Amino acid sequence: MGSLYFDNSATTKIKEEVYKEMQPYYYKEYGNPSSMYTLGRYSKKAIELARNRVANFLNASFNEIYFTSGGTESDNTALKGIATSYKNKGNHIITTKIEHPAILNTCKTLEQQGFRVTYLNVDKNGFINLQELEESINEHTILISVMFANNEIGTIQPIKNIAKIAHKNNIIFHTDAVQACGNIPIDVKDMEIDMLSMSGHKIYGPKGIGVLYVKNGIEFKGIIDGGQQEHGKRAGTENVAGIVGIGKATEIAQKGMVTHIRYLQKIRDYYITEIERRIPGVILNGPRQNRLPGNANFSFPGIDGNTILLKLDQEGISASSASACSTGSTKPSHVLTAIGRDEQTAKSAIRISFGEDNTIDDVNFLINKIEKIIIKNK
Ligand code: PLP
Repeated sequence: MGSLYFDNSATTKIKEEVYKEMQPYYYKEYGNPSSMYTLGRYSKKAIELARNRVANFLNASFNEIYFTSGGTESDNTALKGIATSYKNKGNHIITTKIEHPAILNTCKTLEQQGFRVTYLNVDKNGFINLQELEESINEHTILISVMFANNEIGTIQPIKNIAKIAHKNNIIFHTDAVQACGNIPIDVKDMEIDMLSMSGHKIYGPKGIGVLYVKNGIEFKGIIDGGQQEHGKRAGTENVAGIVGIGKATEIAQKGMVTHIRYLQKIRDYYITEIERRIPGVILNGPRQNRLPGNANFSFPGIDGNTILLKLDQEGISASSASACSTGSTKPSHVLTAIGRDEQTAKSAIRISFGEDNTIDDVNFLINKIEKIIIKNK
């Protein structure tokens, strides 16, 4: 069968069309986009085309798109940028217990600087409680940051309702949409999103490139000092090839979104149904509705998740236990702990994140291998 990849939440394989469009900017078109002469202007033009494509993808305006080095930098910039700009208004931030470390560790740093952070609970499927959110708001709250979709268990939060609560209270709303982009149609205007983070390598684009969308009128301070690139908010010579790549990836994602979502949902639902039918006692982590189309996360009580992963790897299958960022950690996943799983159940979890290249034959191969591993272990 060769090697099979089921870890598309960790990263995706770059599309050939994306790679091809990037190539000239590593070699022939090497001009600095800030240079006035023709070679520089070519690079500048390529960046502006990409900015337009990303803006279209999110239904944002051209000048609301800032290129960064990835989802992590976008999250850092959103939180630290707002904290710095609005510290005279207040020092309270609201987020959730199940955010990615890019948000959680940024919040920890801000707490050391005197900010107060409320970490909202989630229910057994990973959803926040809107009433708890409303009750957490106080006169010092300057920012609410809630992830669009969770990277481990796929829960999609009610983003528009959260944005409405934020705005009713005159608070800025940021969402980490790194996992949602390309898998859920996003319209920042309709959803009333003020700030949004996305990443190139989760949407069949390159690594090391990201976007921060910031609605016009919202003041924020950049976190990297230097030149005037990116509307003076993100200094440093641009990663031109990366920007071209994320631009192309969003264009492709936008065109194929409906088919992409339907396909991933189909193979994911097949996997969930078959695993539950063939392996008694498994526990699905995350909701059955409002779940990322390609995400399936099961606990297999009685066997360690890392043991399953090693055995799958020996069969040429790539999957993961939690998120790529927590691989190697001996602690149970903070997300699974937040939804109420005990330590053993949390440690027996396997996340499968399907991608466009997976066929139904691949999924059957995976299911057979998992079944064999679990049955042999009994
Ligand atoms: N936020 C979420 C929800 C993620 O899943 C990830 C990556 O896994 C990130 C942020 C970080 O993005 P990047 O790898 O582009 O820094």
